[in-house]
Amino acid sequence: MTWTGKRVTVAGLGVSGIPAARVLRGLGAHVTVVNDGDDERSRAQAAELEALGVTVRLGDGATLPEGTELIVTAPGWKPDKPLFLAAAEAGVEIWGDVELAWRLRGHGGRKPAPWLAVTGTNGKTTTVRMLASILQAAGLRTAAVGNIGVSLLDAVLGDEPYDVLAVELSSYQLHWAPSLRAHSAAVLNLAPDHLDWHGSMEAYAADKGRIYQGNQVACVYNAADPATEDLVREADVEEGCRAIGFTLGPPAPSQLGVVDGILVDRAFVTNRQKNAQELAEVADVNPPAPHNVANALAAAALARAYGVEPAAVRDGLRAFRPDAHRIEHVADVAGVAYVDDSKATNTHATEASLAAYDPIVWIAGGLAKGATFDELVEKSAKRLRGAVLIGADRALIREALARHAPEVPVVDLDRTDTGAMSAAVREAARLARPGDTVLLAPACASMDMYTNYNKRGEAFADAVRELAAERD
Ligand code: ADP
Repeated sequence: MTWTGKRVTVAGLGVSGIPAARVLRGLGAHVTVVNDGDDERSRAQAAELEALGVTVRLGDGATLPEGTELIVTAPGWKPDKPLFLAAAEAGVEIWGDVELAWRLRGHGGRKPAPWLAVTGTNGKTTTVRMLASILQAAGLRTAAVGNIGVSLLDAVLGDEPYDVLAVELSSYQLHWAPSLRAHSAAVLNLAPDHLDWHGSMEAYAADKGRIYQGNQVACVYNAADPATEDLVREADVEEGCRAIGFTLGPPAPSQLGVVDGILVDRAFVTNRQKNAQELAEVADVNPPAPHNVANALAAAALARAYGVEPAAVRDGLRAFRPDAHRIEHVADVAGVAYVDDSKATNTHATEASLAAYDPIVWIAGGLAKGATFDELVEKSAKRLRGAVLIGADRALIREALARHAPEVPVVDLDRTDTGAMSAAVREAARLARPGDTVLLAPACASMDMYTNYNKRGEAFADAVRELAAERD
């Protein structure tokens, strides 16, 4: 593909748009960036790009620039935007940031590294980081890329000669990546999320399912989540590509699973009817909560599909350290464990989190984003010692608790000031008994009270440390 003189429109000035515009300009394309917003920050960013010869139109993300031959869009832009409707009418192709990176693999004579790709409603970042850790333990040059770590464009076009990449992909990115063909890919789970963007659960699932398209070696699915297996069945893969399941129970042939506290592989072994290969112990998974063991199995499956030896799976899992605010143990105070899972911003993640401890004093609430809490509360009720509710939509959780767990004591904190989390932790400490876990797993977004889930998690950890200092 020749880029010189090609008229490319980049939709959205942002984390993906700015590097895309730079790279395309560097390749000799005529680049126009269109952006809905026109604030001080975007004006400064525009000035930097203009100095490179990029045209920027602020305050007009809807009009298709004259002569556009290709659109490269920020993944978050909704498919029903007027810009895209105009592009469809004009027969202009639309790529996302992932598609652009995929097409630029091998540019300038580089050897393209194969992609091991991961998607799912929850657990993507953790699984991709575990996978990168395993690949590193195997002595491979790799990086965790996508929504995390190194940007995809940098990974593809930089000087680092990667052997293989561990790639996290969101449903938005997959929507805009029609020609992506991974070596192997995993869909960890599928629960309703971002449905306002995709339009329906079917459309969301279809976009996630694109990750399996054209896989060469393995399509990894979650045996406990039949929707992920359905996606494998529907995928058009390379001849000889295998469907590999992961399960928290004993594995069937062509699955990875768990037997007596050991992670075992019954997929990438000779004579899988009879043989199984020990990979690691559950205790090697950090932390060994059930959903995290599932993530480890998915990462192991992808690594094994790439040919990694069992010992490297164990070493990689042992070396892995989870990112902050993902079931992070903050401290033990008076025999009670305090765990920060601020990243549990939806009910599916929170369900996994609540399944990992017993008994729990649950701190929850925030922005519900249209979610309902009945199923979550019903499934978790028997583990709850108590609940402390914070944030804008806490009434929704309170009502679900009243319906399905009326015996569970609930503290409804009617405050959103900076001291609210400290008060929540104190209330939780009052409800907890030695041996319990106080778990921040809000099932909601944080933006009603905090800038993001990191800040919410930090507020929790600060409050726990304050409490620990007083009790010492
Ligand atoms: P993502 O990148 O998909 O947002 P993360 O690895 O950052 O996923 O984990 C986000 C949250 O999802 C965690 O804090 C945890 O509560 C939950 N989670 C992690 N793995 C799983 C899983 N396999 N199934 C369900 N929930 C999970």
